[in-house]
Amino acid sequence: NAPLSEVDPEIAQVLERELDRQRGYLEMIASENFVPVSVLQSQGSVLTNKYAEGYPGRRYYGGCEEVDVAESLAIERAKALFGAEFANVQPHSGASANAAVLHAIARPGDTLLGLALDQGGHLTHGMKINFSGRLYDIVAYGVDPETSVIDMDEVRRLAVEHKPKVIIAGWSAYPRQLDFAAFRAIADEVGAYLWVDMAHFAGLVAAGVHPSPIPHAHVVSTTVHKTIGGPRSGLILTNDPDLAKKINTAVFPGQQGGPLMHVIAAKATAFKLAMTPEFKERQERTVRGAAILADRLTQDDVKSAGIAVRSGGTDVHLVLVDLRDAQIDGKQAEDLLHEIHITVNRNAVPNDPRPPMVTSGLRIGTPALATRGFGDAEFTEVADIIALALQPDADLEALRSRVAALTAAFPLYPDLQQ
Ligand code: PLP
Repeated sequence: NAPLSEVDPEIAQVLERELDRQRGYLEMIASENFVPVSVLQSQGSVLTNKYAEGYPGRRYYGGCEEVDVAESLAIERAKALFGAEFANVQPHSGASANAAVLHAIARPGDTLLGLALDQGGHLTHGMKINFSGRLYDIVAYGVDPETSVIDMDEVRRLAVEHKPKVIIAGWSAYPRQLDFAAFRAIADEVGAYLWVDMAHFAGLVAAGVHPSPIPHAHVVSTTVHKTIGGPRSGLILTNDPDLAKKINTAVFPGQQGGPLMHVIAAKATAFKLAMTPEFKERQERTVRGAAILADRLTQDDVKSAGIAVRSGGTDVHLVLVDLRDAQIDGKQAEDLLHEIHITVNRNAVPNDPRPPMVTSGLRIGTPALATRGFGDAEFTEVADIIALALQPDADLEALRSRVAALTAAFPLYPDLQQ
């Protein structure tokens, strides 16, 4: 039982250097966050040793008395946090949660209607080489080319024409709120299930700064590690008791074997923290930060460099930057921001003329910086740094110093040693 630094110095160094990287860069990948130390503790605990196939009180292994407590707490807290009647906290990830949802409500060959990947949808919503695209018959809706907003008339037209078994509302790269009631009305009209994948905006929903899909959807899935800021994992919610049974069977034994009990314990803690006033305040800062960024990136100096913001703004935790008319492409912009120690990801924009490894867009999110403590003043500074960096002939050295001042003023994990 020697420490990691002795057993495996190479991996110990990776942990150390990664901590340094996280401390020294401004993390603006919209799907990332920083978990609290309490969550790190559960994830690095002896619960990782335990097999617990089944559900609390109905396990296929002995010795589950303690992990039963952890899972029951996670379930009860998830239900309370989102106001849902049922929660399954076992999915290992967002993609596993989504596989289980489809396993529960559709059969291979059924038709699914979801947002196209290149318009902001997720791989699991029907991408051709993902399991969803291979097992199901996919019809995709997109965004309006002028407004970049989902056109509900088109969703309805496609639903009436194709009679899907499942309509998927949810996204990985979309800056606006969805009209859940309108999606449900269309689902009811054509006899489809409405599945909302709130992986990105679940933290905003939990804090009440974004409408909740729970009253509208037949089933809701999410990740726990994006805006919620919990351990990397998934969660499924429903108010329908018949679907609840199907979802439990779909997760185990349908899709998974032994649940990750150390992660489930960490989820319980993350849900507890998400019920606090501090969490709500953080989500408010997250959304305000994104609005500040969108506002700065629509100023004249940025516009005249051919840079635009998709849909003209944001109501959530991210901004989509459109570089189709700019001198730089998505890859160059990502690399350039990396040079000044800001981490973002390039992202295809709808009807992107460039290939997926290059793209003509950036997705920039505020959740991790809000967790780091950033408020309006810091987001205004970051927005200005990004706005200047993306323009031709930017003084990158000066901008990197401004970033360094921010990372120094907001130390990350000050007491943590890896
Ligand atoms: N659903 C949506 C909408 C997502 O954006 C993501 C992650 O990017 C997922 C599901 C999948 O989550 P994971 O990466 O944990 O499998």
